[in-house]
Amino acid sequence: MDDRTVVYSTYYNPMEANIIKAKLEDSGFACFLADENVSTIQPLYNQAIGGVKLIVFERDVEAINALLAEDNSLDFESTDEITGEGKSAEGKTVCEKCGSTNVGYGMATDKKYSLWATILAFLTFTTPIKANKCHHCYDCGYEFE
Ligand SMILES: [Zn+2]
Repeated sequence: MDDRTVVYSTYYNPMEANIIKAKLEDSGFACFLADENVSTIQPLYNQAIGGVKLIVFERDVEAINALLAEDNSLDFESTDEITGEGKSAEGKTVCEKCGSTNVGYGMATDKKYSLWATILAFLTFTTPIKANKCHHCYDCGYEFE
């Protein structure tokens, strides 16, 4: 049996991660979050450990890709997605502060989740969209354009 797991994606926003997790579980996919508790209690520490990781079984990755893609039938940019080896570093953006390449572009690299983030923002009266419009260094927490 192939029970290997992979990091499907990493979320800077723990709430976003929980939304995706709930969605996958609703559809029958086993998954869990790593570092969730730490990041929820101490958001600053979250930046140091690289956010909340969504772990799934490798065998489910393609089906999950298809499932999540369905949510975004209007988003034509969500086709070049994860291939099964977890999320590769998008581009070679370098942190302006510490020089790390462990840099994400927030929602911009996970555009297919923007609808959920919007819903979340509405429900919680927060503005995650705004926070996601810049690069974020997972090593030192520095954010820049
Ligand atoms: Zn940095």
